[in-house]
Amino acid sequence: MKVETLPLAGLTTLGVGGMAEVWTVENLQDLKQAASRPYRILGNGSNLLVSDAGVEERVIRLGGEFCLFDLTGTVGAGALLPTVLQKAAQAGLSGLEGLYGVPAQVGGAVKMNAGTRFGEMASALEWVEIFHAGALHQYRPAELGFSYRHSELPVGGIITRVKLNLKEVGKEQVRAKMALADAARKGQPKRKSAGCAFKNPVGDSAGRLIDQRGLKGLTLGKAMVSREHGNFIVNLGGASAEDIWALVQKIKEQLPLELEWEVWGKVGQGVGTG
Ligand SMILES: Cc1cc2nc3c(=O)[nH]c(=O)nc-3n(C[C@H](O)[C@H](O)[C@H](O)COP(=O)(O)OP(=O)(O)OC[C@H]3O[C@@H](n4cnc5c(N)ncnc54)[C@H](O)[C@@H]3O)c2cc1C
Repeated sequence: MKVETLPLAGLTTLGVGGMAEVWTVENLQDLKQAASRPYRILGNGSNLLVSDAGVEERVIRLGGEFCLFDLTGTVGAGALLPTVLQKAAQAGLSGLEGLYGVPAQVGGAVKMNAGTRFGEMASALEWVEIFHAGALHQYRPAELGFSYRHSELPVGGIITRVKLNLKEVGKEQVRAKMALADAARKGQPKRKSAGCAFKNPVGDSAGRLIDQRGLKGLTLGKAMVSREHGNFIVNLGGASAEDIWALVQKIKEQLPLELEWEVWGKVGQGVGTG
């Protein structure tokens, strides 16, 4: 196990976030030790806005045996979803194609029930192993309250492993489905971001509303509303969490949108999930 004090900016796709004590755990024994004090569990940091002041809790990252996977067996929650998806495609196994382009770890994708209109994580699961209350427990998807980009895990639960429910359909069919999901991403920016910043209002698109208000290209400090896609806020290089938060507030002054990202630590005037 490694315990290091690191800037979270290097561990999030937005590239912002101050210092935290990062515990990289290799096995269950490490995990038990790391989880013995208040903690947050970090996946690939692709849905997070982290305070410039960092966070007080330990940040647990899954390493070692939690990153191993075997598609006919189990998949560690720390494995990168794009890697697992590519291996599934090479083996002609179907079930994850709709998640093509989601830069998550498997655990983070399960927690957020990540997905697109081509499919979501919950449908690809046979069971999920979760560490909580000092031990590992196995759950069927129906027990985890999955809904749109949401799950109901036990409080403080850390996903450690999953069993995927993939069907052998042949490489060509899998590749064709991946190409569809890929094509739908063509308008997304390549700069650092955390994906869509706001939830889509029922029956509408946050990106379309932002575009309609003429907010694309709006820049504060080093943060900008992407010109390619209104629902992406991008880091132009060296943005702070405060720059990004200020831009979020500017958009919210004009539109009643709800943030999709999770906020870690104090951002703005002490605002955040705490
Ligand atoms: C370019 C880009 C495109 C994106 N496109 C999409 C998309 O099409 N669809 C979509 O749904 N999302 C998309 N996202 C958002 C993001 O990838 C998803 O929300 C993803 O599920 C986050 O996973 P993560 O591993 O990065 O988790 P993190 O961002 O690190 O964490 C997110 C939440 O999951 C929790 N978590 C992480 N790992 C675990 C674990 N092992 N056990 C328990 N909880 C855990 C964290 O504590 C936190 O609450 C995109 C992001 C980017 C940057």
